[in-house]
Amino acid sequence: MPPQAEDTTTSVSARRWAPIGMAAGLVLVTAAGWQWLQAGSHAPAEAMTPEATTHSEEDFVPDINKTEEQWQAELTPEQFKVTRQKGTERPYTGKYWNHKEPGKYKCVCCGAELFTSATKYDSGCGWPSFYAADQPDNLHTEADRSWGMVRTEVMCKKCGAHLGHVFDDGPQPTGVRFCMNSASLDFEPEEGSGEGNAKTPSRKDAE
Ligand SMILES: [Zn+2]
Repeated sequence: MPPQAEDTTTSVSARRWAPIGMAAGLVLVTAAGWQWLQAGSHAPAEAMTPEATTHSEEDFVPDINKTEEQWQAELTPEQFKVTRQKGTERPYTGKYWNHKEPGKYKCVCCGAELFTSATKYDSGCGWPSFYAADQPDNLHTEADRSWGMVRTEVMCKKCGAHLGHVFDDGPQPTGVRFCMNSASLDFEPEEGSGEGNAKTPSRKDAE
């Protein structure tokens, strides 16, 4: 009887500490999770690095879904081949690789704003190249393992158009190179570019 009582005492004291240890562990895990969430919510600056937004194909469903026939009717054969069949135009042949006008570059399929001339640079690769996206939320990236290479494909998030690839050999401050197909892009010149500031207000003319 007495030895048994002693055993009970020791095991009770051990049990008394166990929940405290578990609770402390839980607090640590919760704190770590919260910090991770906080870091995640502050991540947009890093969001466009090749790895950061790479998703599996099953995850991605574009907002705009049209049939192959519909796209074919709306696009030129070259645009269709590149954007809907993941083609690549030959370097130095597209209309924007050496294009330097100020303005916006949009998705040729759906008009989503993607890049601007402000981050376009001469990469020497023969395709229009940008070191940053103007509207990162309009871009979707995923791993592309075709042609025996592992690359990061860039697509329009709204309509799923293939735009090109993103590489990590770009200039600072981002270090990335968005290598796009001209056939995937539509250019909108900056309003009033090349014109002086002096202009006649049309409202006054109406009075
Ligand atoms: Zn699009």
